[in-house]
Amino acid sequence: MRFTDSHCHLTMADADAALARAREGGVHGFVVPATKLDDIAGAVAVAQRHDDVWAAVGFHPHEAKDCDDAAFAEVERAADEPRVVAIGECGLDYHYMHSPRETQMAVLERHIDLAKRLDKPIIIHNRESTADMVAILERSGARGILHSYTEDAETARKLIERGFYISFSGILTFRSADALRACAKVLPHDRVLIETDTPFLAPVPFRGRENEPAYVVKVAEQLAALWGMGLEEVAARTTANFAALFRVILAG
Ligand SMILES: [Zn+2]
Repeated sequence: MRFTDSHCHLTMADADAALARAREGGVHGFVVPATKLDDIAGAVAVAQRHDDVWAAVGFHPHEAKDCDDAAFAEVERAADEPRVVAIGECGLDYHYMHSPRETQMAVLERHIDLAKRLDKPIIIHNRESTADMVAILERSGARGILHSYTEDAETARKLIERGFYISFSGILTFRSADALRACAKVLPHDRVLIETDTPFLAPVPFRGRENEPAYVVKVAEQLAALWGMGLEEVAARTTANFAALFRVILAG
């Protein structure tokens, strides 16, 4: 059985140890998204060191205020690296509002333009900003992934129609997440990915602990229960989706 983790911030963890534990648990295939300039070299380095790790580069909406022309030029430069398979993490976050809304939107648009220019998927963070996000993505012409998805099935379907994939994190296992489980249950199986968002959002029964890619199996188990299929099939489908979206080949 082979699992993948579409979103793990291994720049914020002991990457090599966490990867070794994950592989022991059957997880082979990881995307490490950078969230700011300081993060980019680390994300690319992990990907260069490991055959089953790829990087994404961009500015998290919290950091959007620091994404000036010079900083974005560095994102563009890093995006050309062969191990960089996606643009992000970027998006909108109106919950914390660490950067002004207009800045977040402008920076997101820059990332979308870059993703389209390079024909790479975009990794989207969205929190309490769904109306603006859907409006932007629907007319963007970009493809990509809604990471740690928490919205409803109707919104997911709209974005799936435009070429997006939906990635579920450990939130799917939280006791309070009945609405999200109802959403995951009805989505097309060929458009769903799994992730940890390491070191955040550890799934049940590890909630409150530091998350790591090995725990992505708990998200897959939840999907297997919702979809009424074996864990093996969920592993195979989400791994195929990972390979299709990021256009990577997962060896042996
Ligand atoms: Zn993230």
